[in-house]
Amino acid sequence: MSTRLVHAARPHRTPGAPLNHPIEVASTYHAGGESDYARDGTLGTAALEEAVGELEGGFAVAFSSGMAAACAILDLLGNDAVVVTGIFTYAGVAGRMRQLCDAGRIRLRRVDLTDTPVALEAVDGAQMAWIETPSNPMLGVSDIAAISQAAHAGKTLVVCDSTFATPLGQRTLDLGADIVLHSGTKSLGGHSDALLGLAVTRDESLAALLRERRTLLGGIPGALECYLILRGMRTLHLRHSRAQDSARILAERLSQHPRVRRVHYPGLPTDPGSALASRQMNGPGSLIAIEYDGDAEETEAVCLRTQLWAHATSLGGVESLLERRRRWEFESPEVPENLIRLSVGIEDVEDLWADLDAALRG
Ligand SMILES: *Cc1c(COP(=O)(O)O)cnc(C)c1O
Repeated sequence: MSTRLVHAARPHRTPGAPLNHPIEVASTYHAGGESDYARDGTLGTAALEEAVGELEGGFAVAFSSGMAAACAILDLLGNDAVVVTGIFTYAGVAGRMRQLCDAGRIRLRRVDLTDTPVALEAVDGAQMAWIETPSNPMLGVSDIAAISQAAHAGKTLVVCDSTFATPLGQRTLDLGADIVLHSGTKSLGGHSDALLGLAVTRDESLAALLRERRTLLGGIPGALECYLILRGMRTLHLRHSRAQDSARILAERLSQHPRVRRVHYPGLPTDPGSALASRQMNGPGSLIAIEYDGDAEETEAVCLRTQLWAHATSLGGVESLLERRRRWEFESPEVPENLIRLSVGIEDVEDLWADLDAALRG
């Protein structure tokens, strides 16, 4: 996989050819060729899609953000379609689902998808099952293979948001999902400098439908963004394994910390998702959630005290970030007020620990 990441979708090795695809800045093209108009995709989009498609083993469709990809997928639903979703789903996706539901477009079945028997029952008669595993921000783990198997018995389309896992941490399509979604903004890009989304499927006609949505809804990524995400992917393997190694160490130490009530991290043997994660994932990833021993205000103060960890939203970058998720009005009310989500970067783990420990102690 690390070799693939470095070599996927390079230009042909002809003398004088560049090793990277140029950033092609054009909205329109001379008629009669392969490209006509950039909203249908460009050479830069195609290169990124080739690399991600190779990585996931499917047809990738790139969008201007993870949300643009999510909305194109939801746009596939017919009127009155039943959609099964978890209690903890990325707040933007949950918000859009609620809007569609309030407008009478779809019906939502919001259940605990980390409880497999509940999940299997819920998918019965649904048109779409929307899994997010590990989930944002609670790090809950859902059984992709079991849910996909039950869903497919009833022709339910399975979508899995694997942004937290990355393509290295989870072989989502192999496990049975029909579409895997990634916010490329996060670990794929890895440098907190570009927005992009990806939907990948093994069904060519489904990919064509998503491409058509992209053209008509207009969610095409820009040339610079495609370049930045592909460039970021070249080092994904190194960044992912370094951040994950540090996250393991930090999660362990946090679970012993006097000011931390609870740690949510599928890499801890005591975590409810750990057994499933060790079967389903190649490592628990680099996101941790902790419940601080304090109220909302005291928890917020921890995030303001760190010197090295940046108090910022988003995740999967080289720099470590933390935030209290409930500072966002749109975050699900089931998320505890004292929950801090930590995105572990690639800095020295002892520096990260010293800063975090001091901020937690106050
Ligand atoms: C950030 C995120 C998204 C949305 O992606 P954007 O690129 O910000 O639009 C979707 N799902 C998850 C799990 C995310 O973390």
